[in-house]
Amino acid sequence: MFLPTTQEEIQKLGWDALDVILVSGDSYIDSPYIGVAVIGKILLQAGYRVGVIAQPDVQSGQDISRLGEPRLFWGVTAGSVDSLVANYTASRKKRWNDDYTPGGLNERRPDRATIVYSNLIRRYFKDTVPIVLGGIEASLRRIAHYDFWSDRIRRSVLFDAKADVLVYGMGERAVLALAERLRAGADLRDVRGICLIAAEKPADALELPSYEAVCADKNAFIDMFHGFYKNNDPLTAKKLCQKQDTRYLVQNPPAEYLSQAELDKVYALDYERAQHPYYARLGDVKALETIRFSIPTHRGCYGECNFCAIAVHEGRTVRWRSQESVVAEAGQMTHHPDFKGYIFDVGGPTANMYGYECDKKLAHGSCPAKRCLSPELCPVLKVDHSQQLALLRRLRKVGGVKKVFVASGIRYDLLLADQAYGDAYLLEVVSHHTSGQLKVAPEHTEDHVLSRMGKPGSGQLLEFKRRFDTLSRSVRKKQYLTYYMIAAHPGCSEQDMQRLKIFASQKLKINPEQVQIFTPTPSTYSSLMYYTEMDPFTRQPIFVEKGLAGKNRQKQIVTGRAGAQVRASKPRRKA
Ligand code: SF4
Repeated sequence: MFLPTTQEEIQKLGWDALDVILVSGDSYIDSPYIGVAVIGKILLQAGYRVGVIAQPDVQSGQDISRLGEPRLFWGVTAGSVDSLVANYTASRKKRWNDDYTPGGLNERRPDRATIVYSNLIRRYFKDTVPIVLGGIEASLRRIAHYDFWSDRIRRSVLFDAKADVLVYGMGERAVLALAERLRAGADLRDVRGICLIAAEKPADALELPSYEAVCADKNAFIDMFHGFYKNNDPLTAKKLCQKQDTRYLVQNPPAEYLSQAELDKVYALDYERAQHPYYARLGDVKALETIRFSIPTHRGCYGECNFCAIAVHEGRTVRWRSQESVVAEAGQMTHHPDFKGYIFDVGGPTANMYGYECDKKLAHGSCPAKRCLSPELCPVLKVDHSQQLALLRRLRKVGGVKKVFVASGIRYDLLLADQAYGDAYLLEVVSHHTSGQLKVAPEHTEDHVLSRMGKPGSGQLLEFKRRFDTLSRSVRKKQYLTYYMIAAHPGCSEQDMQRLKIFASQKLKINPEQVQIFTPTPSTYSSLMYYTEMDPFTRQPIFVEKGLAGKNRQKQIVTGRAGAQVRASKPRRKA
């Protein structure tokens, strides 16, 4: 079922008013990949009346007012992508396409959409119910952060949006707790997974360097980021606070992760896998092409690539759905009128993290001073592809399914580390789950740049390629690896790109096509390096290419083309 987007739909449901109105920078797409759809559905299941306003006109009150005022709260999100990432390339050029806007023309999502939508609500509803921010833009801008587009440190978006609450990370638990408290008129201050503004410093919070201090001193900004990054595991995180002007941003510890049974329930809700008809009449959304018939199998990632924000958004602990839940979803898809037998992806942030985790982490939380995969695989993590192997085999047997692809990136260091099932898993993928090309994301080939990125060394890439080629030949298939690379990451020079070019042509036997200029998105270690021009772990200075001409040259060295991709697409899978 779609949630209502008009008064007529509200009346048809026999509702007199809404408890919650969700406002989004994306079109309203009902899919388990879309945060607004998931949050709306779980609130509905808990008995709340929820409506959706997608991509409201910000010049008038027509859209924002059309469902009236909610009884409990407004939920505001910029959508599935940070609005600045959606609207501009890494060269700060305007993007003309948007995969989440009907018709594909990028004309509906304002810059800093979270702030603009909150202001829009306040303009037309004075003294309204709380405004609750959520989604990736709010989550990654929840604390003082480097903003590449204005080239400065910004305050928490909670302050700039003049909103009441910010839900960060995966929002199901926090949003349900908020709704319950607001319905009961109870205090919100101890709800996990949220940020609030306080007049005084809470006695039980760990204080991070103030906004003023981090603006004035790059070392203070590094200290702040380490403190923020370390306090993101629900088992160990402390409450944080940061002075911003005269008040305090307070970040409560993260919400506890959903159990497998709870995750299965979230994905069993009746998603339409389509755009709401109110918006569909305005045109198709490109994002649906990839997400409509794909299945998310897990959340979280312990890859901790330094340019990726998943660790502070979804968490470093992988939680996965049961095989039964994933197979049931595939079975349901086969009844969809547009399903042609193809499942375009079965995966998560990294395809091959499904079905195993570190026991120590599950019991005590992520190690505060150690990473699971970098600089090398931690021996405590017992890599095991057997569950994913079994899952793929089961999915192939679902009646009506012709082909299942693994489009999410495969982390090859994990695959090589699994003596028991690694080769069997790769053989399965090579034989049944690729479309002739398998995407991998080495991101670079020079080990000192890879180390800044938190990625495995180039030796492992070559070994993976050797196995992929051998297995492809063994099943008589002509198929290739497609390599994704990054230019102008902190620490990367033009000489490094020249060496990448030589490595690619001599060892990989390719001319890389997929090269993106590094974008410093909020709240990542790579962005911290970009801004401070320091290694945040040793505090030694590092070379950072900041000039546009220099960035373009880095890309051109490899591709012969300048600029970055101009489509605001579903964020590229990382692995
Ligand atoms: S013990 Fe190793 S695998 Fe487990 S959380 Fe720590 S670093 Fe990661």
